[in-house]
Amino acid sequence: MNRKGLIIVVSGFSGVGKGTLMKELIKRYDRYALSVSATTRCPRPGEENGREYFFVSNEEFERLIEENGLIEHAGFVNHYYGTPRKFVEDKLSDGIDVILEIEIQGARQIKKQYPDAVLLFVMPPSAIELKNRLIGRGTESAEVIDKRLKRAKEEAVGIEDYDYIVVNDDLDECVQKVHQIIDAAHHAPFRNIDFINTIRNELFEL
Ligand code: 5GP
Repeated sequence: MNRKGLIIVVSGFSGVGKGTLMKELIKRYDRYALSVSATTRCPRPGEENGREYFFVSNEEFERLIEENGLIEHAGFVNHYYGTPRKFVEDKLSDGIDVILEIEIQGARQIKKQYPDAVLLFVMPPSAIELKNRLIGRGTESAEVIDKRLKRAKEEAVGIEDYDYIVVNDDLDECVQKVHQIIDAAHHAPFRNIDFINTIRNELFEL
């Protein structure tokens, strides 16, 4: 069976711990590559340009859109975020799974363009735990936290459009679960049509 590279979209409410989860997944398994998005928001303490995000101006972001340099983009709480095209296409053609940690509007754009994509939504163990994690992170003002929680209520409506949900309670268990889900998704018949047809043809030639 020839393993094709897939796009794995990972979404989840702000503060749910997607970033930590994805960094851990990449560290443990070398078959995944994490896409670095472009954003117009400012870096948080500890974030580096080119590692967490490419931090760009509004003008640079608009230029990227005009040049067709993004495979999707969306607005999120006062800022723009988008996925650079080249990295994703290069990794897919090398047979490597590319993880896009993006919000729900972007996820929908990806599913339209890449019906093969696996859409995964990371859930908190409870709503109050989510709020505590956002406050505990200490990187956003009370006003921004409120906006992000409001956005979570809106995003909660779209979770059924995803293929899988995982609960981020124990980091270790959650990383393993995500890996198992991706592995299982690779085995779906519709993602292996070429292989199935090869065997069918071989059967006729027996
Ligand atoms: P944060 O500011 O907390 O890093 O990210 C805010 C939201 O934007 C998160 O839900 C994150 O998943 C999403 N996001 C990050 N990069 C992208 C991107 O390239 N495209 C889209 N559509 N959403 C993104």
